Amino acid sequence: MIIAVSGTPGVGKTTVSKILSERLGYEYVSIKDFALAKGIGEKVGDEIEIDVDELSRAVGEEFSGRDVVIDGHLSHLVPADVVVVLRLHPKMVAERLESRGYPRKKLAENVEAELVDVILVEAIEENENVIEVDTTGKTPDEVVDEILSLLNSGVKRRVGIVDWSWAYDDVVQYLMLGGD
Ligand code: ADP
Ligand code: MG
Repeated sequence: MIIAVSGTPGVGKTTVSKILSERLGYEYVSIKDFALAKGIGEKVGDEIEIDVDELSRAVGEEFSGRDVVIDGHLSHLVPADVVVVLRLHPKMVAERLESRGYPRKKLAENVEAELVDVILVEAIEENENVIEVDTTGKTPDEVVDEILSLLNSGVKRRVGIVDWSWAYDDVVQYLMLGGD
């Protein structure tokens, strides 16, 4: 089965995907590395722009029938049996991206995306089977335990468990309201 692990940058996708794949005995796949290896994606400035339709086709061809955990913030857009969307309090997203040296504008965009559920909404539009997990205050192992316990009990859809609107005041300082 194909498990996609998606979420805003910094929420812990790579950390969780690696542990999850080990615990399940599945292959670990970074979607970005896969795209680059397949020659999908164009460098636009210092960013890589990936054609999602092309990526979806390539993922389907390569991985259908295999057991994989696909890690990346585009993974909710490719064919998967279940999409796990990791969530994290947007202030912690901001702090993690700050420590990664994200430029102010990119940081603002991503904090806002987490605040208003962008990846979750996209995932729900693409896939019936979406499991949302709040990672705030949990260790990576605890997050993986929660995912495995949901999957093992046959849960295929669990969404709507976080609402960051109450956290707005904590992150307004990071947002670029009214543009740059
Ligand atoms: P992503 O792949 O979503 O961008 P990473 O897995 O690279 O996120 O994690 C971003 C940072 O946060 C890393 O420094 C990682 O060690 C840390 N991290 C990830 N998950 C947790 C967690 N549950 N608790 C504390 N720190 C975490
Ligand atoms: Mg990552």
